[in-house]
Amino acid sequence: MSSIVEMKALNKFYGTHHVLKNIDLSVARGEVVVVIGASGSGKSTLIRCVNGLEMYQQGSLLVDGYRMPVEADRRLGDESALVEIRKGVGMVFQQFNLFPHKTVTENITIAPMRVRKKSKQEAERAALKLLERVGLQAHAHKYPGQLSGGQQQRVAIARSLAMEPHLMLFDEPTSALDPEMIGEVLDVMRELAAEGMTMMIVTHEMGFAKEVADRIVYIDHGVILEVGRPDEFFDNPKNDRTRSFLARVLRH
Ligand code: ADP
Ligand code: MG
Repeated sequence: MSSIVEMKALNKFYGTHHVLKNIDLSVARGEVVVVIGASGSGKSTLIRCVNGLEMYQQGSLLVDGYRMPVEADRRLGDESALVEIRKGVGMVFQQFNLFPHKTVTENITIAPMRVRKKSKQEAERAALKLLERVGLQAHAHKYPGQLSGGQQQRVAIARSLAMEPHLMLFDEPTSALDPEMIGEVLDVMRELAAEGMTMMIVTHEMGFAKEVADRIVYIDHGVILEVGRPDEFFDNPKNDRTRSFLARVLRH
């Protein structure tokens, strides 16, 4: 199977702080990879490298057939591959980052119109379909402030999907939500997975991870310590540190 993401010996530093250490990780098309680990272990940095929101210094990173330039090359202005990569990669953050002064529909149609040069009519038709998919067709003309956190995050997912991504990145998409709203967002993500979307997800929702992931990646101080199928990973972790991490998070 061809990989959509291929990291080889990837290293990332913030100044002298070495935050990703010799990362080797491939993601196949259609695969759901869940990244877990303690706070500060490098999870966000890892997935932000995939769409170039963070720069890496050493190793190689192929995304969707393009080579992501290393920091030194980006500083020299070599960003053409980055532009192509970003067209095919959607990202959903902990904070929904919707435009507060634009309606739900406008939030979803703005990028397809500007970047994909879709007509307003075409973009709005697609937006409505996406809103139906995330269960929010009745809220098309509202402003983000009139919606709950769970609804806003579903709009943010629809907005990403409007660009027809080949890969979706999620960085703790439910961490800012009240507990009663987590389920509705996870349901949308579950459906996406079932439809075959390729996803890299950082989450602390272990039940969800176990259910939806094809593989779990456990990262500790910038090192991938363990990768496995969820059943193997949760039921029979090989590494002592993985075991103690799981004991800590599963107790809650
Ligand atoms: P996680 O998402 O697993 O909590 P992060 O990827 O955010 O971890 O952070 C990994 C490490 O990099 C941490 O030690 C964090 O303090 C550091 N770090 C994150 N962002 C920056 C930044 N912009 N500048 C300097 N250090 C950072
Ligand atoms: Mg993080």
